[in-house]
Amino acid sequence: MEDKEVDDFLKFVNIANDVCKEKGKSYEFICPECNGKAIAIRDEFNGHLYAKCEGCDMSVIQ
Ligand SMILES: [Zn+2]
Repeated sequence: MEDKEVDDFLKFVNIANDVCKEKGKSYEFICPECNGKAIAIRDEFNGHLYAKCEGCDMSVIQ
């Protein structure tokens, strides 16, 4: 991975973390990589963060 890609990925994770205020609810946010629609959700039970962009297929499971 190049620096810019790592940067975008970290931004993506940070935004996803930020928007997920309540567990078990899904939140939309704007992907920093492609400005497309991305969805993030924090698991109600184990607190894991899931996020996926519909535009560029950036995704995270944490
Ligand atoms: Zn994207």
